[in-house]
Amino acid sequence: MKIQFHGAAGDVTGSAYHVTTKRASVLVDCGLFQGGRAQKALNRAERRLQGSRLDAVVLTHGHLDHIGRLPILAKKGYRGPIFATKGTIDVATLILRDALRIQQGDLERENRNRARSGEPPLEPLYSEQDVRALKPLVRAVRYGKRFRVAPGIEGRLVDAGHVIGSASVELTIDDGGKEKVVVFSGDLGPRGAPILGDPTPFERADVVLMESTYGDRDHRSLHDTAIEAREIVADAIERKAKILVPVFAVGRTQLLLYLLAGAFRRKTLPRFPIYLDSPLAIEATKVYGKNGEVFDEEALALVKSGELRRQLASVRFCSSAQESRALNDAKGPCMILAGNGMCTAGRILHHLRHNLHKPETAVLIVGFQSPGSLGRRLVEGEKEVGIFGQRIAVRASVHTMGGFSAHAGQKDLLDWFGTIAPSKPKLIITHGEDRARRTLAQLIHKRHGIRAALPDLGEVIEV
Ligand SMILES: [Zn+2]
Repeated sequence: MKIQFHGAAGDVTGSAYHVTTKRASVLVDCGLFQGGRAQKALNRAERRLQGSRLDAVVLTHGHLDHIGRLPILAKKGYRGPIFATKGTIDVATLILRDALRIQQGDLERENRNRARSGEPPLEPLYSEQDVRALKPLVRAVRYGKRFRVAPGIEGRLVDAGHVIGSASVELTIDDGGKEKVVVFSGDLGPRGAPILGDPTPFERADVVLMESTYGDRDHRSLHDTAIEAREIVADAIERKAKILVPVFAVGRTQLLLYLLAGAFRRKTLPRFPIYLDSPLAIEATKVYGKNGEVFDEEALALVKSGELRRQLASVRFCSSAQESRALNDAKGPCMILAGNGMCTAGRILHHLRHNLHKPETAVLIVGFQSPGSLGRRLVEGEKEVGIFGQRIAVRASVHTMGGFSAHAGQKDLLDWFGTIAPSKPKLIITHGEDRARRTLAQLIHKRHGIRAALPDLGEVIEV
């Protein structure tokens, strides 16, 4: 049996792991490379994946860096099954629609630039038709239930606690008459976070592919972060200020709304107007609403009793651009949650342009900010930033909240591996930058005597 790494090898985007046996060929995840130009170019250049025969695809979750190249597979003629949980299918449907829109905008801009420098235009990576071609291929599977993936390969998905529908994948593989169990962690969530369950541990595997996004550090605890955020919000409410929160649509938005509902319920915050100014985040919040059966006990009880809905009565959904513009005139105190999460595009830019120069404005940064993004410049305390070609003075207070991550920190990763370590699996560490995966590999070696493989892009590991 061979596993080839078509992404997320020494990097956190482009997850795609290709398992081949004598009888079958299966892909786990098919993510988009994201980040700077060099990363994006890989989506076009990485052709090894596109040329291979494929019997099935299994998805861990619906984030773009795990599903974003699926339409390329469809474009190349793939018509086999795509197995995922219902939550993942719902999230992926939203995300792919949004990604198509962004891709079209990006391509137009890029091609205008290329035309100016006399270069030929680039073809779109894929079309709307390719996205639509995926729909009849998806097969919803339940957590814990075994299903047939391909000849000689059975699958099982269990909760990974990362976003709605997220899963770790276990493949039981008949490898030339010998049964082997291969576990793919997928992105693992932090333990004890609200709404979703904790990642389900495994006890036995022959091979483990494990993510290492935060292999080199721990987050501040969610509990402490939530208290700090609440104090900032309380202060802003008292000053009748606007609180701007750049958000990632899936996961973080719902976590924040849930925490606010909790604060309203316990009366540690007075109710105040909250605007969800992101069509994608609104849709994603509805997806969470539709998939409540996978919530943890507390969240499930709050949904069933109608308490969550009651507490969030002051949340307004702003779908149209007109509703979004009207927020310029909204009086504080209020909170505006708008995309995108790194302030590189989207409606948040308008709100920042209108409010950054006001000292009373509070900006809450709740997610990872990549180098060079506007969000990163705000985090680094720049006193003036450019938005839509205009220089804007930053007089608002900017607060960075590290503890709202949807990813397991180092300790949770080590604990997750701890339950499976006694079965002495072959370990392959993926989905992390080099420093993170090396640190995690060293810690695991020290603790369990297991040496990890750290594959590079395109590498094949024989197991
Ligand atoms: Zn993810």
